Amino acid sequence: MTATALPTTEDLRTRARAALARVGVTVEEGGDFQARSPITGEDLFGLRAATAADTEEALAASREAFLAWRTTPAPRRGELVRRLGELLREHKSDLGDLITIEAGKIRSEALGEVQEMIDICDFAVGLSRQLYGRTIASERPGHRLAETWHPLGVVGVISAFNFPAAVWSWNTAVALACGDTVIWKPSELTSLISLACTRLLDRAAEEVGAPRDVHRLLLGDRTVGEKLVDDPRVALVSATGSTRMGREVGPRVAARFGRSLLELGGNNAAVVAPSADLDLAVQGIVFAAAGTAGQRCTTLRRLIVHQDIADTLIARLTAAYQKLPIGDPFDETTLVGPLITPQALDTMQEALVRAQAEGGKILAGGNRRLTDAAPRAGYVEPVIVRVDAQTDVVREETFAPILYVQTYETLEEAIALHNDVPQGLSSSIFTRDQQEAELFLSAEGSDCGIANVNIGTSGAEIGGAFGGEKETGGGRESGSDAWRAYMRSATNTINYSSRLALAQNVSFL
Ligand code: NAD
Repeated sequence: MTATALPTTEDLRTRARAALARVGVTVEEGGDFQARSPITGEDLFGLRAATAADTEEALAASREAFLAWRTTPAPRRGELVRRLGELLREHKSDLGDLITIEAGKIRSEALGEVQEMIDICDFAVGLSRQLYGRTIASERPGHRLAETWHPLGVVGVISAFNFPAAVWSWNTAVALACGDTVIWKPSELTSLISLACTRLLDRAAEEVGAPRDVHRLLLGDRTVGEKLVDDPRVALVSATGSTRMGREVGPRVAARFGRSLLELGGNNAAVVAPSADLDLAVQGIVFAAAGTAGQRCTTLRRLIVHQDIADTLIARLTAAYQKLPIGDPFDETTLVGPLITPQALDTMQEALVRAQAEGGKILAGGNRRLTDAAPRAGYVEPVIVRVDAQTDVVREETFAPILYVQTYETLEEAIALHNDVPQGLSSSIFTRDQQEAELFLSAEGSDCGIANVNIGTSGAEIGGAFGGEKETGGGRESGSDAWRAYMRSATNTINYSSRLALAQNVSFL
């Protein structure tokens, strides 16, 4: 199915300008690079990228602001985040518009992304009164042993196109509550939404009297990000994007003994056991595999189905895929919007050619759509490919809606297949058998940072820590105790006796 006609690029430009104006952004147009919309695949405005001098100035200002911000009591820092959350609520629809225009997300997912930003602000406000350290029993009489948590410094946030605002907010809301300052280098594909978020945070800072430079935005491509990666003033580089990017960023930050938090590619799988509720499984699988046009790090890319139910499940999935409305993401009936660029479409087509050469069989989808209405855009039918083995292409992340389906006989075999990929982000099992579910969640089960039961791999809540293992980078962001990555701890030993007792009964003097 194809939904109604697409908006024109001029419509999108007008809508983007209106949303930006309501948020308070006047676009400073320049000629360095273009803001673009995947809805038509055409350029919206020329923008100015940060120069080396801009970056240097931002680094110095951010470091200076940190010196003041770190001594601001944490609950006062929380007030800045609270105000940001209020402004995000007020401008939810504007920010949703910009996410749809730049990232091509359907309206409900774009609004969901803004909701995620609001949620993390709420979380971080609470956190600002809960940056707990432990008191530890000392082995020495008259001594107290304690752990304190201090702000870390400047946090460089490098973000990907597919969560152009939420990933920033996970990092920024928590980092600000923790007493850090932030410099943000967003994806070069999603600059407008970053201008809007930055304006709202600037407003919040003005209103609550926080230092102006607690947050800085640097637009541009990876060369701007590289400056943050290499600069020793950036205490933590939190980088979200492809494993290729992480492979470059991680060692460079480590070489200067900086800290990095890497949130990289996934190759997520779901196991469907014979006892699964298939109605629930079909819904969960279609959302996780085809939602966001397959462009979530947690997108379901591999389905591992028990051989006894494979034919039934595949028939239901192919029927559901044939009905997916593809088209204008602003149309409320659309479920699948465009891929981010025509190159993403090429990469998808190349992966399908490889998959077939490696023995795969396309069961549904794969055709390009809306080529006449939007020749520069990348609309495509989500694809299901049946494979007999986990070949090279299946073990890679192709950032597009391709679902590889394979079968298994025993759960041990399914878990082995599940874990036999280089990435380790998200996973799930559909089963009504508690033993199977518990085994999947156990130490000998899924090796991912996220393991779910009876829901798909995507759509995490902010309350839990988010991130993955192996080539996904090992970072954890958002909820739970992920805040610790944004602080440094100190262990304090306080002797309140009048005797110097040495640890381990060491005697000296
Ligand atoms: P990308 O790697 O092309 O770019 C991500 C960001 O890194 C951009 O801002 C880019 O300019 C910057 N960058 C690239 N190379 C760099 C370098 N050498 N030094 C400094 N900065 C550099 O990724 P993308 O196409 O924007 O996003 C899609 C990818 O992101 C997918 O692989 C997806 O799985 C992953 N992703 C992961 C998570 C997660 O939480 N694990 C979340 C969202 C996206």
